[in-house]
Amino acid sequence: MLRIERQEKIKEWIAQKKNMTIKELSKHLGVSEMTVHRDLKPLIEEGTIIKTFGGITYRGDAALDAPSPKEECVYCRKKVNESFAFRLILSENRIEAACCAHCGLLRYQQLDRDVLQAICYDFLRKTTISVPLTWFVMDASLDLGCCQPQVLTFEYKKHAEQFVKGFGGKVFSFEEILIELPKKMHLKKAHHCQE
Ligand SMILES: [Zn+2]
Ligand SMILES: [Zn+2]
Repeated sequence: MLRIERQEKIKEWIAQKKNMTIKELSKHLGVSEMTVHRDLKPLIEEGTIIKTFGGITYRGDAALDAPSPKEECVYCRKKVNESFAFRLILSENRIEAACCAHCGLLRYQQLDRDVLQAICYDFLRKTTISVPLTWFVMDASLDLGCCQPQVLTFEYKKHAEQFVKGFGGKVFSFEEILIELPKKMHLKKAHHCQE
């Protein structure tokens, strides 16, 4: 099969199944995982699919692309600004939107295992990123006026680090931010009596 044929197949499958692993694709297509990665690259770049841990997810759902103007944050009820939006994809095609990574991450923790997939945007390039692969910056001096402590999202660690050089703050991985954000909120709240 030619690359273009394999890519057509991938698009067909992913539109039906929504999520697939690289292993599955390599098995179905009868090519190496390395070849699958090469086939996927242009599809990821054109935005048809999103790269996830060990696999891909379908991005064709209109709900992910076209925010309704009245969409409000599931966590704080603020109006969702599309450029900072953070979306959680749950079972039965339910999708929740948060105003920014701050609320998105807190909601992610609330829902725990119910989250099938979460996506946000790269702060600089506005590309879509899968949340577990995202780099987060907290404590930067640039205030976007959404929720505090503010959390910015980057696709590449290098970009996050360069951003921190100019605007301050600290870079965290997904696992780290899930620990650091609640910790920081706790510190802020310490002088109020209780939760
Ligand atoms: Zn919010
Ligand atoms: Zn917010």
